[in-house]
Amino acid sequence: MRPEILFPLFAPVTSLKGVGPKVAPLVEKLAGPLVRDLLFLAPHSLVKRRPSSFMGLVEGEVATLTVTIDSHMPPRALQQPWRIRAFDGSTGFVTLAFFKGHGPHLERQHPVGAKRIVSGKVERFGSEMQIVHPDYLLPIERAAEVPEIEAIYPATAGLPPRTVRKLVHEALERAPELPEWQDGAWLAREKWPSWRAALDSLHNPVGEAEISPQSAARRRLGYDELLAHQLALAQRKAARRAHPATPIQAGTLAGRLEAALPWKLTGAQIRALSEIRGDLASGERMSRLLQGDVGSGKTVVCMLAMADVLDAGRQAAFMAPTEILARQHFETIAPLLEAQGVRVVLLTGRDKGGARAEKVMAIMDGTAGVAVGTHALFQDEVRFRALSLAVIDEQHRFGVNERKRLQDKGEAVHLLAMSATPIPRTLELTVFGDLDVSRIDEKPPGRTPVATAAVPSPRLPQVIARLKAAVAEGAQAFWICPLVSESEEMDLMAAEKRAVELRQVMGGHVGLVHGQMPGPEKDHVMAEFAEGRLPVLVATTVVEVGVNVPNATIMVIEQAERFGLAQLHQLRGRVGRGRRESSCLLVYDPPLGETAEKRLDILRKTDDGFEIAEKDLELRGGGDPLGLKQSGFPAYRLADPVAHRDLIAVAADDARLILARDPALRTERGEALRMLQELFDWKPAGPGD
Ligand code: ADP
Ligand code: MG
Repeated sequence: MRPEILFPLFAPVTSLKGVGPKVAPLVEKLAGPLVRDLLFLAPHSLVKRRPSSFMGLVEGEVATLTVTIDSHMPPRALQQPWRIRAFDGSTGFVTLAFFKGHGPHLERQHPVGAKRIVSGKVERFGSEMQIVHPDYLLPIERAAEVPEIEAIYPATAGLPPRTVRKLVHEALERAPELPEWQDGAWLAREKWPSWRAALDSLHNPVGEAEISPQSAARRRLGYDELLAHQLALAQRKAARRAHPATPIQAGTLAGRLEAALPWKLTGAQIRALSEIRGDLASGERMSRLLQGDVGSGKTVVCMLAMADVLDAGRQAAFMAPTEILARQHFETIAPLLEAQGVRVVLLTGRDKGGARAEKVMAIMDGTAGVAVGTHALFQDEVRFRALSLAVIDEQHRFGVNERKRLQDKGEAVHLLAMSATPIPRTLELTVFGDLDVSRIDEKPPGRTPVATAAVPSPRLPQVIARLKAAVAEGAQAFWICPLVSESEEMDLMAAEKRAVELRQVMGGHVGLVHGQMPGPEKDHVMAEFAEGRLPVLVATTVVEVGVNVPNATIMVIEQAERFGLAQLHQLRGRVGRGRRESSCLLVYDPPLGETAEKRLDILRKTDDGFEIAEKDLELRGGGDPLGLKQSGFPAYRLADPVAHRDLIAVAADDARLILARDPALRTERGEALRMLQELFDWKPAGPGD
C-alpha cells in the first residue's frame, strides 16, 4: 500500500493550479499524469536574467532592462507585429514586438510613460535592437518576479517552458521531507544532499554546475532511481530462485553431439556451457542470458544444453522471433540431434491442419524431444509432456509475457535467453540485472574479417558497377536503405527506387524486403535470397538479425552516417560467414561530421561488438545512441545511464547487500526503501515472473 505521506505527489496533475481539462493532456504528454511526474522533470538549461545595460546589448542573448514606455506603434499590415518603443532614459531605445493582435490590450497594460522591467532575447531588426515577445514585461514594482537565473524545462506546443516551470515549482512545494533511504555513511562520503534538498537544488539552480548530471543533487537523484531499479531486479531474481527445480546433470548425449561436430568448441563456448550446466544442476530455476556477438556460435551451446535436458528424460523448446530464423535453427540442430535418435519438430504459423496436429501431438506425448518454432510455440493448444528448458533467441524481440507463456508450459522451466545486441558491459546490469549473464566473447577461428570501407555517395555509380561485376561471378549482396526520415512512406519509396535502379543495372534478380510487407511475403523473398536464387537483396533495416546466408559476401549500407554504430555492426555481421572474403561498404553523404567520421573509423578498425558499443557510448554520450530503448533498456527519469554509469554497479551491489540483510525490507531503512520504490514505480514483480 502506498504510504499516506506520498499522496500529494500521486495526485493527478489536474490538482495543480492552472491545470484544467485543456492543459492537463499537454502536461501528461510532457511529464506524465501525476504531480510526481512534474517533480521528476529535470530542467535542461539555464537563462541568466541579470540586469543588463543598453550599451551592453548583445544580439542573440537574453537581456533584462528597466525601461520607460515611449510609444505604441500599431501594425501597418496584417503580418506586422504590434510594436512598443521603450527607452532607458539616457542611452537608447529598444523595440518590443508582439505578433497576433495584442494591440489595444497592450496599450492599456503598458501606457506611455509607465516604467517597466523587460526580459527576453535580443535581436537586431534593421538598425534597432528588438525583443520579440519578451519573456517578462512587468511594472517595475514587480521586478522581483524576474528570476536572476531561470531553469528552462522541456516544453511542448501550447505549454511553454515558463508554464512548465511554474507547475514544477508547485509540485516541488508539495514534496514532503521523506525518511532517508540511502546509507548515511555513503551519503556523507559522496557529500550528497537529502532527497528533498536535492530536488530543491535541481529546480532552483544557481549556476550551470547545478544542472549538470554530475552535480551532487543530480547524482543523488540518479542514484536513488538506479537503486530503486536494482532493488526491484534483485527482488525478482530472488523470487525466481525460490522456485526449486529438479537438478539436471550433464549426460552423454551432449558428448556424442560434440564429437560429431566438424570443429572444436571455442574456449568461450566451453565456459558458457559450463555456466549453464552449473545452473541446470543447482536445483534452482535457471534464468541466464547468453550474450554473444553475431556469429559467435550461440546455437551450438544451447543445443548442448538441450542435450543434457533430453538425457534427463525432459523436453526443450527453442523459440525464435521469425519464421525464417526458426527454420534456420531447425535446419542446424535437427540433423545432429536426429542422428542421435532425438526427434525435433519445427512449429510455426505456417503449419496447418493435419501436419500441425501431428506435431502438436508429438510435443504432447513426448515423442518430440525438442520443439523449434516461433510464437506458435506458446499458443494454448501446444502442451509439452515434460518441458524443462526454454531457449529464446533474440530475447528482446519477445515481450515479457510471451517468454513467460512459454515458460509456463512446464514446472520450473529453465530459461536460457540469447541476445546478440552488444550492450556495453557498464550498462549490462541495468538491462539484464535480473538475469545471470554468460558471454561468448571470442569468435570461432578461421573467419576472415570483413573488409570495411567508407564511400562518399557521389561514388555510388562505381559501387554499383563493382557490385555488378561481383554478382556476375556468383556473389550475393545485401543493400540496406535506412529508415530514418519522418515518414516511413518516403523511406520506403527510396528503397523501392533503389531496387528498380539496381534491377535495371543487374538485369532483374533484385529482391526487396521492408517492414510493411506481410510476413509470408517477406519470408518468401528472404528464402529466395538465402537459397541463392536472388543475387541482390535490397532491404530497409528489417534484415532479420541472425539470418545466415553464408554465400552473401557484400554488404552495402546507404547513409551509413545515420545508423547507430551497434546497428551498423550487426548489419555488417550478416556477411563474412562463409569461406570467401567479404566486404562492407558504408556509403555516406559528404561532408562527414567529426563524430560521424570517428564512428565509421571505429567500425573500420574493430570487429568486436562489445568494444564497438562501449566506444560508441563514450563518443556519443547521452540520448539513446545505441537504440537501447529497443533492447529493453529502462526509461529512467533522473538517472542518466551514460553520465551516471559509474553508479550502476554500485547500486547493484548496494541492492544485493540490502536484500541479504533485510530480505523483506522490514527494518527502518527497508521501509524507507519501499517508499523509494513506490516513488519511482520500480516495484518487484509478482512471484514466478
Ligand atoms: P550466433 O551466435 O550468431 O547465433 P551461430 O550459432 O549461428 O552464431 O554460429 C555461427 C556459425 O559459426 C555457424 O555456422 C556455426 O556452425 C559456426 N560455429 C559455431 N561454433 C563454432 C566453432 N567452435 N568453430 C567453428 N565454427 C563454429
Ligand atoms: Mg543466432
